[in-house]
Amino acid sequence: MPLFQQAVFLTTVANLRDLPRDSLCEVAFAGRSNAGKSSAINTLAGRVRLAYVSKTPGRTQHLNYFTLREGKYFVDLPGYGYAKAPEEIRSQWEGLIGPYLSKRDQLAGLVVIMDIRRPLTDLDVRLIDWFRPTGRPIHIMLSKADKLSRQEQTKALRSMKAELATWGDASLYSVQLFSSLKKTGVEEAETVLAGWLGIEKKGPPDKGGPEAKVSQPG
Ligand code: GDP
Repeated sequence: MPLFQQAVFLTTVANLRDLPRDSLCEVAFAGRSNAGKSSAINTLAGRVRLAYVSKTPGRTQHLNYFTLREGKYFVDLPGYGYAKAPEEIRSQWEGLIGPYLSKRDQLAGLVVIMDIRRPLTDLDVRLIDWFRPTGRPIHIMLSKADKLSRQEQTKALRSMKAELATWGDASLYSVQLFSSLKKTGVEEAETVLAGWLGIEKKGPPDKGGPEAKVSQPG
């Protein structure tokens, strides 16, 4: 059973005081709007529309919690980077997402989804700079890898690895290629996340498993 396959939507959190109290361990997913975050979550879950709940009215600017196992969650953070209403976005970051990222004890690590063709935008860097002082791990998923040739993918991966090497503690930062369209990178992501969450990973290999057949991006 792949790690995310039993994930179910739990709740939307708009205020820090409403964070689940029973959480033992959670991982958060962040990314620029349109980077492919929802598709990546749906692909990991093997479900076409799981992360779609995060895109429904009233939920887009909040933290959306999904249950993986009792007490273990993943958290879909609002996509960032829309040009409109920067003030609103800033205040929301300062009020909810910033404090969540820097103070949530149960947060085991942060996944940042970046379009492989536009990695490390200014807002990605801001988010990462906000999180790094926590000393917790960051895993970057270079999404939509299928948009580039093999050679270009390798080049993008290599250059991101070189960038990560400048961040210090190599054990904290990792990067991988991912494609929701081609369903590539699923195993690699699961291995990292299972490690963070302390969940034993069992199940079929990347290709040919149930996740190979379901879910199209978007
Ligand atoms: P989000 O705003 O970060 O949640 O992004 P979405 O998951 O909604 O994806 C944004 C757009 O990118 C949609 O049109 C998706 O179909 C497309 N997309 C997402 N993942 C992939 C992928 O792996 N490959 C390709 N070619 N397109 C993708």
